[in-house]
Amino acid sequence: MRLIQIIVFFLMLAFASSLKAEPIAFDNVSIITMNDRDIIDSGHVITSGGRITAVAEGQLPDDFAGRRIDGAGAFLMPGLADMHVHYYADDMGPLYLANSTTFVRNLTGSVATIRRDEAARNGALLAPRVFTSAPIIDWGKPSLRDFFIRVESTDQAVGAVRAQGRAGFDAVKLYEGLPSETFRAAVAEARTQGMRVFSHVPRAMTVQDVLALKVDSIEHLDGYARALLQDGFTTDAERPAPIMWANSDREKFAALIAETVNAGTWNVPTFAITYGRINSADPDAYFARAEAVYLPMWADYWANMAASFAGNQPYYEAQLRKKGAFVRALYEAGAGVLIGTDGPNPFVTPGFAIHDELEGFAKAGFTNTEILRIATVDAARFMGQEGRMGVISENAQADLVLLRADPHVDLAVLREPLGAMVAGNWHDRAAIDAGLAARVQRLQKERRDSAEKE
Ligand SMILES: [Zn+2]
Repeated sequence: MRLIQIIVFFLMLAFASSLKAEPIAFDNVSIITMNDRDIIDSGHVITSGGRITAVAEGQLPDDFAGRRIDGAGAFLMPGLADMHVHYYADDMGPLYLANSTTFVRNLTGSVATIRRDEAARNGALLAPRVFTSAPIIDWGKPSLRDFFIRVESTDQAVGAVRAQGRAGFDAVKLYEGLPSETFRAAVAEARTQGMRVFSHVPRAMTVQDVLALKVDSIEHLDGYARALLQDGFTTDAERPAPIMWANSDREKFAALIAETVNAGTWNVPTFAITYGRINSADPDAYFARAEAVYLPMWADYWANMAASFAGNQPYYEAQLRKKGAFVRALYEAGAGVLIGTDGPNPFVTPGFAIHDELEGFAKAGFTNTEILRIATVDAARFMGQEGRMGVISENAQADLVLLRADPHVDLAVLREPLGAMVAGNWHDRAAIDAGLAARVQRLQKERRDSAEKE
């Protein structure tokens, strides 16, 4: 962060804490701390100024002056982190909160996304906190209608990274079309700017090339599938990932996993995209789901895209199985993995898709305890916020969800939180529902307006 940002940050912090003067306490509640205190059967948690200020067994002291929320019969835990989203509209915020997600990592940023984080922290927006990358940098001709930044030379790529750093972004996202020399120069410039590097594996490079650069995260693991192909199975880099995963060789897992551990690079498998592809086999059934009312008008075109996924339908289950086995082996070897959904990919509804992602991990052999840790503690570790995020302990960020039951027993309870707290701002179920309803109204109006125009 530059000095000016630091000053602005502290001014905002002062402003935000003045808004949150009143402390809030959850009383009579079971506390899933996600730290070595494990679960406190009946206790209380106090938050103030956006942070947790007390965690203790037993009842709230009588002299507590503030708002008291009765948590009798309920479980309080740190909110989940969805570590791969595309969050491009203010009223998407409730979609995440309604699914127990209080933190998102956005992979195609704009200055508006940075503002959304500020607004979530000071309680002005019903939304999760957000860490965002800068706009994606890829190769090609610039176009006004494109949300990617396109470059046609290494100098342009370096210039783009420098400009993004100066604009206040703390991370770059580098994409598949970049030539090797350009990708390497962009990574070097990001490091000079103190920015983190999130990337795909470019077609012109191998996953080993990218790991050697020690990037912070690789998205989707697609570059791995190419390196894991069975001998004799010829392919080019354009071949769809499901076919490559279906023809991957488990004997090749170990060497690549060792290289990943060595690089310290984290992986975000985004199983939810594959669930989306499977969902595409029956668009009508998908659009009949309750959550489909939150999809924007342009999602109608997903139905047209469905045909283009049909050819790969025979490979999606195998992809989930093989990729799941690889992710499990990565985790067991000590490589970092993260929960991320990549909504709105086709048939992947933002917020709601996290349950597919959790199921993808469960199918890969992860226990509920491991899954909950990945979505909280491990996400915090990736963010360099260990002990300050993803746990219920004193001084940690007050990002919490209140649940009807213990999610260790059944993760489905994460679908219906009783409320969510973001940076100390409490949003109860009624507030979240009102936010969801407001989005539906806006989308319906958009549809009516566009129908009138035609
Ligand atoms: Zn994405």
